Amino acid sequence: MTQLRISAKILGELAQPWFCPRCFWLKMKTGNKLPFQIFPGIFSSIDAYTKRVVHGWFDDLAEPPLWLRDIGNIVGYIDPPHWSRFQMRIQEYDILLTGAADGILKLADGTIAIIDYKTAKYTHHQDRLLPMYTTQLNGYALIAEHIEMGRVSKLALMYAQPVTDNETARSNVVRTDDGFRMPLAVYIHDVDLDPGGLEPLFRRARVLYDLPEIPDGRQNCRDCKKLDQLMLLARKL
Ligand code: SF4
Repeated sequence: MTQLRISAKILGELAQPWFCPRCFWLKMKTGNKLPFQIFPGIFSSIDAYTKRVVHGWFDDLAEPPLWLRDIGNIVGYIDPPHWSRFQMRIQEYDILLTGAADGILKLADGTIAIIDYKTAKYTHHQDRLLPMYTTQLNGYALIAEHIEMGRVSKLALMYAQPVTDNETARSNVVRTDDGFRMPLAVYIHDVDLDPGGLEPLFRRARVLYDLPEIPDGRQNCRDCKKLDQLMLLARKL
């Protein structure tokens, strides 16, 4: 059995109702380096900026921002480790589960909260992604406890929603000499803590990864149909 290295984020894809075994198999076999995958870097930059804002708040003011009050009684933070130091082996399936948490906050009762930052409006579409985010955060909880970072008592998504209404756009607060500001309003969404619920996903990931041949994709997927057409065309040329 070859060890399967999988991030908690990709494991989360298995929890989505529209999960595609074919896409998953391809991603795993190519080290998640499929072509034509373009993700705008601006979101990673804003998430990294959010982390600096939260840490800076503690470092400079020795208190948490008010907009994190729904997380609990926060007394500090832990700098989230790189994925190479935030991982664990799931022995039964020989899976190396990795992760890179956005925010790890210390709570007054000695436990920790793990937060994932999202730069997005909280909409119905975000709700549809909850199974994926829940798996991802529970994966982080599993790893955090395994590496003895602390007992995890809280998981949450922190949405930083751009405030883009006309009134805000025309207010003096956003006007600066070298550009303009865009306020972000924070919304906290609690996520159920249930690391034990990941077991069926580990099993399924192992079964799919071990398939000797590529499995079928989702029926009626337009992208795969286009790919088939391209392959047909290439053969004719
Ligand atoms: S069916 Fe769609 S989702 Fe699945 S491999 Fe093809 S393009 Fe990807």
